[in-house]
Amino acid sequence: MDIVCLDMEGVLVPEIWIEFAEKTGIEALKATTRDIPDYDVLMKQRLAILAENNLKLRDIQEVIATLSPLEGAVDFLDSLREQYQLVILSDTFYEFAKPLVEQMKWPTIFCHKLVVQPDGAVTDYKIRQKDPKRMSVRALQSLNFSVFAAGDSYNDTTMLEEADAGFLFRSPANVIEEFPQYRVTNEYSELRRFIDEAADQVS
Ligand SMILES: [Mg+2]
Repeated sequence: MDIVCLDMEGVLVPEIWIEFAEKTGIEALKATTRDIPDYDVLMKQRLAILAENNLKLRDIQEVIATLSPLEGAVDFLDSLREQYQLVILSDTFYEFAKPLVEQMKWPTIFCHKLVVQPDGAVTDYKIRQKDPKRMSVRALQSLNFSVFAAGDSYNDTTMLEEADAGFLFRSPANVIEEFPQYRVTNEYSELRRFIDEAADQVS
């Protein structure tokens, strides 16, 4: 039995914070882990900016709902799910992902949670566990599944390492250079071929 684990942002949907910054015109929200490597520092800064701009969860979800999955992503997932079980492993938050997950027809997604006050203010966040992508792959393998994984960035590499086969999809050049052990593709059709070949090898 085979499970495919896919990263979400950069693979199936745009980078949520960057798109959100563009839609709202709040430049400071464009900072990513490349600018502020400590994720907790970065998230605290983002939450402070949301508070300063009086942006409630509903405002954020409304903006995110105007975003769409990347071209071809939904067809890719539909076809993939005919043959494989699919789990999206993401470092986003359920409350942000929801409008995009809906457009992808509600695939299973393991991510994190926001702390939201009764008035809708987002005041904190809860990471589900440490190294969540690796731990998720390991858990699925413990259920006797083979796992094939694809992602675009640094936070995916432990998932790719743990999986039976891992692939880079639309990765930036620095990630490709640092992780030459993973095959790289920019096309869903080729990613599907990589997955099928890997599944053939373990069966
Ligand atoms: Mg990503």
